[in-house]
Amino acid sequence: MTVTTNATTSVSREQLLVTDVPGPESRRLHDERSHVVADGVSCVLPVYIDHATGPFLVDVDGNRFIDLGSGIGVTTIGHTNQAVVDAATEQLGKVTHTLFTVTPYPGYVALANKLADKTPGSHQKKTVLVNSGAEAVENAVKIARKYTGRRAVAALDHAFHGRTSLTMAMNHKAAPYSTGFGPLPGDVHCVPNSYPFRDGLTGEQAAARTIAHLEQRIGVSDLAALIAEPIQGEGGFVVPAPGYLNKLQDWCTANGVVFIADEIQSGIARTGTWFASELFDLVPDVILTAKGIAGGLPLAGVTGRAEIMDAAQPGGLGGTFGGNPVAVAAALAVFEEIESRDLLAESKRIGSTLTNGLHRLQQRHSSIGEVRGHGAMIAFEIVRPGTQTPLPGAASVVAEQAAAEGVLLLTAGSDGNVIRFLPNLTVTEDLLEYVLQVVDDALLILEAA
Ligand SMILES: *Cc1c(COP(=O)(O)O)cnc(C)c1O
Repeated sequence: MTVTTNATTSVSREQLLVTDVPGPESRRLHDERSHVVADGVSCVLPVYIDHATGPFLVDVDGNRFIDLGSGIGVTTIGHTNQAVVDAATEQLGKVTHTLFTVTPYPGYVALANKLADKTPGSHQKKTVLVNSGAEAVENAVKIARKYTGRRAVAALDHAFHGRTSLTMAMNHKAAPYSTGFGPLPGDVHCVPNSYPFRDGLTGEQAAARTIAHLEQRIGVSDLAALIAEPIQGEGGFVVPAPGYLNKLQDWCTANGVVFIADEIQSGIARTGTWFASELFDLVPDVILTAKGIAGGLPLAGVTGRAEIMDAAQPGGLGGTFGGNPVAVAAALAVFEEIESRDLLAESKRIGSTLTNGLHRLQQRHSSIGEVRGHGAMIAFEIVRPGTQTPLPGAASVVAEQAAAEGVLLLTAGSDGNVIRFLPNLTVTEDLLEYVLQVVDDALLILEAA
């Protein structure tokens, strides 16, 4: 392989892979899986993982992959981070479960304190812990409805909020998330977002368009909440135009609408800040966390203004596993690691290496329409060379090429034309240069096809 970027790397395919991808043992397992795992559970890359450390996944055939997906932004501080493993192991042997609503335990309170401290705004905040991102979204909607006495919720175009019966109606894409799974719940509305690369609007113009939809299509008197990902995840790391989210928040505040920031993908050090909201000077009424919060253990949080959170009656919130002690211990270790090892700086370092590297590639590849994102949440959009027209399906061609070179890349975007980088914060400069070189070669192959 020729080195085609300006920088060089000492990493090579031979150091990573020992068989074809997928290897024979992975192929055998994938065949077995096809008999017993539901087809609705899809698979990005059918290599079966045996263990993982730092930035690497190691499969059952002994192949190593540089993980640029982190289980979709979950293992943000690195695979099997020692502090997380130690905290979870110790907690597992102390108490594994009591159910916080039966007999509480200190970790839950400590984590609620951490979330109150680290989320934007100095107002009093309260938290409920649940198991998954979608469950956090569901609870935020319940709480906003109770608080406002209104029924409707609005989500933005290109959004993704989950796969439950409520949240599947809040997603931009019907396929695969809601196709055939109806009837969909009522009082859920999707309204235009800000997508500077495609709409060319300023933040103010895009906000005016969104607000016109909210006022005309739903009406303020029925609208309980507006939910927005400050940087959209599945939508392709769409960064809204400056001022857009602030205008929406101001409008929500003026009209008694709860403004919910879904930071499930963008939160917890992902964007070089604790929360992407900080990049926009945004102080959401309610902020949702999940994915990166507990180093890989299932946990999610809804954190919001105390008066909003307390609208829900005792017994109205919770669930058997919500805020599990082991997951909470892991989460406290994640916060401690980010603070004590200054991992926000690592996130920024990764952001500038990827952004600079991709801009370098953009000069050679007119199929790169835009490079965008912050920190360890960077993406590029693939277009018909020289145009702004999305090249549908192009991202999976690039991801497939990358997998064959030992790099796990994730796709995104409503048109399947975005490659998103969600590395964990242990990824080195050398590994990132290798990844950029692999992307460079994959784009050459794409362009030749
Ligand atoms: C992943 C995701 C969700 C859903 O989280 P699950 O844990 O998969 O239910 C919701 N919102 C955003 C922004 C996400 O990225």
